[in-house]
Amino acid sequence: NSFAESELPSEVLECCKAFDKPSPIQSHSWPFLLDGRDFIGIAATGSGKTLAFGIPAIMHVLSKRKSRTSKKVNPLCLVLSPTRELAQQISDVLCDAGKPSRVQSVCIYGGTSKGPQISALKSGVDIVIGTPGRLKDLMEMGVCNLNDVSFVVLDEADRMLDMGFEPEVRSILSQTCSVRQMVMFSATWTPAVHQLAQEFMDPCPVKV
Ligand code: AMP
Repeated sequence: NSFAESELPSEVLECCKAFDKPSPIQSHSWPFLLDGRDFIGIAATGSGKTLAFGIPAIMHVLSKRKSRTSKKVNPLCLVLSPTRELAQQISDVLCDAGKPSRVQSVCIYGGTSKGPQISALKSGVDIVIGTPGRLKDLMEMGVCNLNDVSFVVLDEADRMLDMGFEPEVRSILSQTCSVRQMVMFSATWTPAVHQLAQEFMDPCPVKV
């Protein structure tokens, strides 16, 4: 229940230096996520959920980076968000949190030109935060390769389903590593969210 207890490297905890202790969702999720397990969090915005999955995502990048097979730097983590506002908010937090350990994030969302997003992807990023529509678009264009992604977060899963993104989510997930760590955050535990979790999450996960 303290940052020291988490045994996270100081450069990864730099973004938490203004906080006294991990928030409840952080202290519950970190032990599972840092152990490579799948995790479902029922948590609303304001609970500190971004760093609950963001810090384990950064740790995943740091551990996978060494064993990257290709020279081309494809992303290792993916965060799917239903709206561009939320995607940008997550991206701001992860860009800042990743800076001391040089973990690069990019935000991919629609309603703006593709050029800068394509350039960022081409220059190599570790974490992609995106909305399903634009992400699928860039994947179909061949500029976003998710084959090395082995840590996936579905944020606001209930909203994602309410907005009709299920086909895109399925198609995007099918392009990621088959052995991957899945994280789901949702404000509500609806039958549709339960169904999605049952299908994509490992009840007895292995370390990836
Ligand atoms: P989130 O739920 O991720 O949108 O975070 C909501 C707010 O909580 C943000 O302003 C964070 O900076 C802040 N926050 C995140 N973690 C903590 C923490 N451990 N203690 C206090 N505030 C936090």
